[in-house]
Amino acid sequence: MTERVLDGCIKCGACVRVCPIIAQQGRDAFPGPRRLAVEAPRFDGELHALRSSLLLCTTCGRCEEVCPSRLPLPQALVRVRSLVLEGDERPEGQERMMENVVATGRTVVPSGPPASVPTTGDLMLFPGCIAHARLPETIVAALRLLRAAGARPYIPEGWACCGSPLEKIGASSLVETVKGINSRVLGVAKVVTTCPGCTVQLRTAHGMDAWHIIEHLHAVGGVPGDLFDPHAPPVRAALHRPCHLARVVGPHTMEMARDLLARVPGVEVVEYDGQDDCCGGGGGVASSRPEVAEAMARRKIGSARDAGADLLLAPCPFCVVNLRRAGGMEVQDLTVFLAERLGPGQNK
Ligand code: SF4
Ligand code: SF4
Repeated sequence: MTERVLDGCIKCGACVRVCPIIAQQGRDAFPGPRRLAVEAPRFDGELHALRSSLLLCTTCGRCEEVCPSRLPLPQALVRVRSLVLEGDERPEGQERMMENVVATGRTVVPSGPPASVPTTGDLMLFPGCIAHARLPETIVAALRLLRAAGARPYIPEGWACCGSPLEKIGASSLVETVKGINSRVLGVAKVVTTCPGCTVQLRTAHGMDAWHIIEHLHAVGGVPGDLFDPHAPPVRAALHRPCHLARVVGPHTMEMARDLLARVPGVEVVEYDGQDDCCGGGGGVASSRPEVAEAMARRKIGSARDAGADLLLAPCPFCVVNLRRAGGMEVQDLTVFLAERLGPGQNK
């Protein structure tokens, strides 16, 4: 991959023009994917001088999408991060994440007691660290939706972080640690997740048949429309497009999300400027430069509010946590919203 990235660039500048971090922070702070992933790796000394810039990429994938040579720029940048940062002191948020993984196998430690969940069934749900510790209502909601769609979902005991956030920050040895734990407890069965980062990582690193819950619900024909409450109050909802869902899990996932929302009575989907933009939290930016992640989230929230939305929905717990940093608008995981709109008979 390195040779292809080093030799394949035709210096067109397209990646630089679309990078949301350059737009937010300027090129002095973040010289962009071409410099960091293509040019600097040729000179070891330069890479180390660019250490703080390396922390700023959200791995949104916009650069790869427009690159005429289709160079895998985010992956190359993450690899450079790993080379430069492995064993180095990290920003406080990343140090904490890594300590949590060493102590518990997961990046975030829950503040309350664990929820009671089924541990046997016919469809595995992988909870993911963020939903498990910060948004446990997402897991309850996912279990309800999967049941409403005809499955008997369960969560295996002893799961560890999927490794996605560790890979993104270049903590390669910890990626191997969690992979070892998961390979013992998960196997290679079909698995459903609510987090696009987990979906991708379970597919690529673990070889599992991993589906985002939006894909699964769509594939099985969705939750039947008559299971939703026809008397729920009307809402004007804006939809956030998570980068790792739409660009990596699958190009049609947002159409699937809109299809599912169209079955829910009382929902008007509001279009808004920048709805496909990165929320700013991915790639370890939320843990290394939270003020940058918050500024990008604030821009999205402001745009959705200006378009008249009451609520911002995101099919990704990680994006939900980041978008909530900005305040000023209710932000909900799409999974939670769909489950809350189920009729009274579906409350199990
Ligand atoms: S992945 Fe996104 S943030 Fe990172 S360099 Fe590419 S466009 Fe910029
Ligand atoms: S878009 Fe691709 S080819 Fe163009 S400058 Fe960026 S890396 Fe090089």
